[in-house]
Amino acid sequence: MLNKKSVDDINVKGKKVLVRCDFNVPLKDGKITDENRLVAALPTIKKLIADGGKVILCSHLGKPKGEPKPELSLAPVAQRLTELLGQEVKFAADDNVVGPNAEAAVAAMKDGDVILLQNTRYRVEETKNGEAFSKELASLADVFVNDAFGTAHRAHCSNVGVTEYIDTCAVGYLMQKEIDFLGNAVDNPVRPFVAILGGAKVADKLNVISNLLEKCDTLIIGGGMAYTFLKAKGYEVGQSLLDETKIDYCKDMIAKAESLGKKLLLPVDTVVTSEFPNPIDAEIATEVVDSDKIPADKMGMDIGPKTIALYSQAVKDAKTVVWNGPMGVFENPILAKGTKAVAAALAETDATTIIGGGDSAAAVNQLGYGDKMSHISTGGGASLEFLEGKELPGVAAADDK
Ligand code: ATP
Repeated sequence: MLNKKSVDDINVKGKKVLVRCDFNVPLKDGKITDENRLVAALPTIKKLIADGGKVILCSHLGKPKGEPKPELSLAPVAQRLTELLGQEVKFAADDNVVGPNAEAAVAAMKDGDVILLQNTRYRVEETKNGEAFSKELASLADVFVNDAFGTAHRAHCSNVGVTEYIDTCAVGYLMQKEIDFLGNAVDNPVRPFVAILGGAKVADKLNVISNLLEKCDTLIIGGGMAYTFLKAKGYEVGQSLLDETKIDYCKDMIAKAESLGKKLLLPVDTVVTSEFPNPIDAEIATEVVDSDKIPADKMGMDIGPKTIALYSQAVKDAKTVVWNGPMGVFENPILAKGTKAVAAALAETDATTIIGGGDSAAAVNQLGYGDKMSHISTGGGASLEFLEGKELPGVAAADDK
């Protein structure tokens, strides 16, 4: 359990509460295309309203790089939150985030009112954790609540700097839920515990591979990163994604698994193509080969049917499953079969299933399996750093219980 003060441990009646949320949602033509992060933030916001707080929401959106960019305004979020909450969320927009509009809106607030500030990354100091902007944010509020798990791996003004200037700093329900699910899975799993890692590059997941190998019973590798492991086993991988500099690392991980008595599963067969599809969802001819027979002129783009059966069985036998990263180039429907099959295996099992955000979360939601998973993290990078065993600065900055 997370030993941080939560919204259940503080009294916010009549107080101004600055709440850092993760409203970094995808937008297309000014419309929100995936509102999971908004929905996930509602329990904390509702609790603070019910307790009579004056709720001042803030978040970043995209990467405006320290300048006001109208296409990255949080205006659509204020509008959608108004609908989701069934009460007005006043958009107190200043290009410098804490300006006359925000100050006037805060001064006029009654207990239970909600306002939203402009995109915190309009300010160049935000991502540098600068003192001036941290103090300005703090000047608006009596209490701070951090519910932005998606940015918890970063130390920025709106989630870390601000806590230096506000006495009471707690975490919200979403933050608590994310850390409880991921923390229990890793540190106190019901066994067998199976971890599945995919995605493009081994280099992006070095520490996750090593840390999870120590914690899990079976580590499954798929996606582009599998080919560096296959090369480390002495197989030729043709034109597949390969990181020459990490072959020795993969050899070390294979040896580590053996010495710890852990199962490390690698693809036994592979879907290969002659080239990378262009555009990415183009029709493409494929062939299935065993993983030790990848032709020199072909590239591995997905796990094959024998591997699907092997990985699905491992999931079936598990009591806890953590998954991060697709099994192949899932953006192409022809090369998405492995990712889909793993998603289906997770959807069918009674095990606790945790999706570590990013592409795998998107894949699971697109396939309509979202409500079949025990937990889908709202933070890709944050969940990965957590799985690496790192302390997240955004969590560490909150008051201990
Ligand atoms: P996020 O950072 O969003 O959580 P992720 O960890 O889920 O991402 P990435 O490491 O970004 O995953 O990798 C996803 C990318 O890897 C996808 O775009 C996919 O097409 C690509 N990929 C998967 N398998 C292969 C492969 N065999 N060859 C080349 N690219 C691959």
